[in-house]
Amino acid sequence: MDLSRIAALRATPVPPALHLIDGAACPASDGGTMTARSPIDGSALTTLARGTVADADAAVAAARRAFDDGRWSGLAPAERKRILLRWADLIEARALDLAVLGVRENGTEIAMALKAEPLSAAATIRYYAEAIDKLTGEIAATPPGTLGLVHREPAGVVAAIVPWNFPLMIGAWKLGPALAAGCSVVLKPAETAALTLLRIAELALEAGLPPGVLNVVTGEGPVVGAALAASMDVDVLVFTGSGATGRKLLEAAARSNLKRVYLELGGKSPNIVFADAPDLDEAAAVSAAGIFRNAGQVCIAGSRLLVERSVHDAFVEKLAAHATALRVGDPLDPATGAGALNSEAQLARSLRFVAEARAQGRRIVTGGDRILPETGGYYMAPTVVADVRPDDRLAREEVFGPVLAVTPFDTEDEAIALANGTDYGLAAAVWTGNLGRAHRMVRRLRAGLVHVNTYGGSDLTVPLGGVKQSGNGHDKSLHAFDKYLDLKTAWIKL
Ligand code: ADP
Repeated sequence: MDLSRIAALRATPVPPALHLIDGAACPASDGGTMTARSPIDGSALTTLARGTVADADAAVAAARRAFDDGRWSGLAPAERKRILLRWADLIEARALDLAVLGVRENGTEIAMALKAEPLSAAATIRYYAEAIDKLTGEIAATPPGTLGLVHREPAGVVAAIVPWNFPLMIGAWKLGPALAAGCSVVLKPAETAALTLLRIAELALEAGLPPGVLNVVTGEGPVVGAALAASMDVDVLVFTGSGATGRKLLEAAARSNLKRVYLELGGKSPNIVFADAPDLDEAAAVSAAGIFRNAGQVCIAGSRLLVERSVHDAFVEKLAAHATALRVGDPLDPATGAGALNSEAQLARSLRFVAEARAQGRRIVTGGDRILPETGGYYMAPTVVADVRPDDRLAREEVFGPVLAVTPFDTEDEAIALANGTDYGLAAAVWTGNLGRAHRMVRRLRAGLVHVNTYGGSDLTVPLGGVKQSGNGHDKSLHAFDKYLDLKTAWIKL
């Protein structure tokens, strides 16, 4: 990585950010702004437009006009592909600039951010661009004298509300298939991670995306996000964030136009280590990365470690050694293993979970505290809490911070009962050298993604989505198109 370029970029002032509506940068309708703070040191980075309901409505109206006049939805798929591929190239060419800007705003360690943010966004946009002129409709097996055609049509105006942990990656998981499908989009970034999404939306215009097809409105979730959810003119609402917000979105959809709502609501993913795991050292290293990368602010984070009792103590010791050795600090230093938490609120939330576990008498094996307070940034030591009981809040609720809850088990059935014993069902992992057990566990675990002898690291070719209260619908893979393409039947008498 180019260290001098990173140093120059981190010192570059960030101009006040505006919305992007109908191809033009514009302030909030009432001129309101909000401060974007850097979690690296708590300093003010710049301001964002504090969007109003009128701003959200203007963006939806622009997206609706763009959709209805066919400036994008009516293009040949191969033409949309050409523009999206150019967009991906522009993002990739500015990957380091985008990554540094993103890290200054959300605190992710740069080595991870570079890959997981601009480079992953470019790859995602390419994947869906490449796919869109290869999808076909169907001819149904109708009786003689009839013809049944099944068309796939762009679903219309999509509102995408995204979180702050991986704004470009998760944003592209929605934007890639939605735009490739021919939809128009209004994107609402999180309050604490908007700058890079605005920047790539400008690059989309440069690549030739017609104005109004991709609009970005910044501001507060309960104002801008809520206005999008209540809009009568949004056809599809896609969301990644908390369950509490997800419930509000469903309510708003029910009260307005019954827009389709797809939710990715996080997890409390069990990472299950059997004594017969092929390599316990590797399992410990990978499990540590699975909870502590991006300071635990990962929806599929393996935040519950379930370990077979015979290897429990030795395994926890190995894992704690990785936690203790992890270099936490300045996220713009490429040697950093885990950066800052995204906000003061997120740091306080993570510390509260640990304080409660401590008060309940659970064992803090390592970590547990805020570190580097002198920087003004939001850093926390990677934390391992042992003897966590299934009913503890730490075993049931998503922390979204660097806190691992450890619980021992004795049998496969007990592991399944513990693993499936929360409201969530996003991800899971099983470490075992027993092939039969691995497949049994995959079938019995209620989760959208089950890892075997690894954690994280899946790619775009496979879907990501939850069951139970982790949500519905899928990002990634060709299945993601299902959210953005409507089926239309033509029944024809011959
Ligand atoms: P997190 O805890 O990950 O921040 P949130 O659900 O609060 O999860 O935030 C995810 C996204 O949802 C952000 O873009 C945020 O602005 C938005 N959001 C928050 N509250 C609401 C709401 N009431 N209606 C619509 N969007 C919201």
